[in-house]
Parts: sequence; C-alpha cells; structure tokens
Amino acid sequence: MIFDLHCHSTVSDGKLTPQELLARAVERGVDVLALTDHDTTGGIALVQKEIDDNQLAIKLISGVEISTCWENKDIHIVGLNFDKDHPAMVEYLANQSVIREERAMEIARRLEKTNLIENVYQGSKEIAGEGQIGRGHIARYLINQGLVKDNAAAFKKFLARGKVGYAPSPWLDMKSAIDVIQQAGGQAILAHPMGYKLSGKWIRKLTIAFKAAGGDGLEAAGCQLAPPHRQHLAGLALEYGLLASAGSDFHFPSSWIELGRNLYFAKDVTPVWTLWPEYADVSY
Ligand code: AMP
Ligand code: MN
Ligand code: MN
Ligand code: MN
Repeated sequence: MIFDLHCHSTVSDGKLTPQELLARAVERGVDVLALTDHDTTGGIALVQKEIDDNQLAIKLISGVEISTCWENKDIHIVGLNFDKDHPAMVEYLANQSVIREERAMEIARRLEKTNLIENVYQGSKEIAGEGQIGRGHIARYLINQGLVKDNAAAFKKFLARGKVGYAPSPWLDMKSAIDVIQQAGGQAILAHPMGYKLSGKWIRKLTIAFKAAGGDGLEAAGCQLAPPHRQHLAGLALEYGLLASAGSDFHFPSSWIELGRNLYFAKDVTPVWTLWPEYADVSY
C-alpha cells in the first residue's frame, strides 16, 4: 500500500487545486492520502467530496502542516487523522492565518522599501486567491514581475531568513501545535527533519525536544531522501520511541518530487498508520 501523508494544494502554496491533486494521487497509485496545507484544513472537505461523488478507491486522512518556532528556527509539525472541526484546532489555525496575513504585509513593506517593486501585498494576495498566504505566493509575484527567474532565486535573494524581504513570524512553540493536534484526536509528526539545514547534532537535539514536547512521530521517508538519511531518520525514530510517517511534500508537478514516489522506510520502524484501526496490520 502507498501512503502519502504530506502534500499541498492551492489552499496553501501548492499549484494544483485539491481536486487536481486528488486526481494525480489516484493516477500515481496512492492508497492513503493526507492533504497537509500550511496552517489550514480548508481543502480537506473538497477532496473528501470528490472522493465520495466519484466513489474513488483512495482514502483521505485529515492533515495540516503547522508552522512553529523552536530555537529561533521555523519548524513544521504535521498533524494527521484529527477532527478538523475541533474548536481548539479551528481557533489555533485562525490565529495562524492572522500571523500569516500580518507577516505578508510586513514582507511587502520591506520589499517595497528597496524601490525595486510595488504592490507586493495586493499582487501576492491575488496569486494566493482564497488560499492561505505564504512566501511561495510572494515568490511567484516576484517572478511574475521579472525580479527573479524562479522560486529558488526568490528565496535566495529576497525571502529567506536574513534577506531584505524576510520578516520574522511570531509562530508559537512546538508544544502548542503538538497539544492542539492531540486534543483534536490526531498524531503530531515532525516534518522533514532533514529540511532545516541542521547538522546531525542539531537534528538530534530537535528530535529530543520534539519528543519531550509530546510529539508522536517523525517523517522518515520522503521521495528525495538518500538512503543514508533514511537510515539516520529511522534510527532516530527507533532510538526515541517515535512512530514513522511518510510524505512527498508535493507542491507542484516536477521531475524531482512526485506524489507517492519512493516513500519507503530504511528500517523496521513502526508506521504512524498502525495506530489507525483500518491499517493496524499494514507494514510497509
Ligand atoms: P512559509 O510557510 O510561508 O514561511 O513558506 C515556507 C514554504 O516556502 C515552504 O513550505 C516551501 O514550500 C517554501 N520554501 C521555503 N524555503 C524555501 C527555499 N529556500 N527555496 C524554495 N522554497 C522554499
Ligand atoms: Mn510550502
Ligand atoms: Mn514544511
Ligand atoms: Mn510541506
């Protein structure tokens, strides 16, 4: 069975609509999908409706990717299989939206101060549409305006930490995100531990802090992870008694990231889905 428990749609900074994303997941043979948009669950009902209307043979698990702050770094916590309508979760994500709006305005102010570009907030909001605004939308505006050639350059030149268009976000701590996910009945997963540009020593520190804050599992499989990294992550999961999750972190069609691709674990970890009665016996 293929589980892909981390991906994005136009409801945050992905480029496919929830319906297009679902169609692609089905095409790629994904059996169990979690849509994990940044700080919003807004796409989940749309995907579920599409599954029901067309009686598709794919199962949707509720998901979200919550932005948090730990040791002055942006750390992402994926929530899985929770009640998306739980009042504590609804309230938490409403606050995340406010933080994102205010940060986008601040980023816009900083970028406009360079006199290289105008109308950044409005332009980025138009690109985001009804989606949760993020730096990905601002990056697309910078590309459309001819300031940079691609997303990587937008971050490198303007949006990454320390660059002229960077504005710090007052994200809450990891524990608050873990708590709200668990309060809503779900599992809290440390997203892409290799994705923070941390040394091995710091990844271990992060894993220990995440576990101490009550976290349930970590992502030990992603489509681009090299075998030694998978070994390392699976080893950390085993060492610290964490479950293992798997997700592509798909944002848009490309040759390097694909839904459901290469999501295998390097070692005999306990997958997060074994907590879900329907999949209790599914190894990987
Ligand atoms: P935000 O949640 O708005 O702070 O934006 C974070 C998102 O921007 C990530 O989920 C990625 O999709 C993207 N991103 C972050 N850093 C980079 C980078 N250096 N290059 C390209 N995309 C990035
Ligand atoms: Mn993203
Ligand atoms: Mn992330
Ligand atoms: Mn993600």
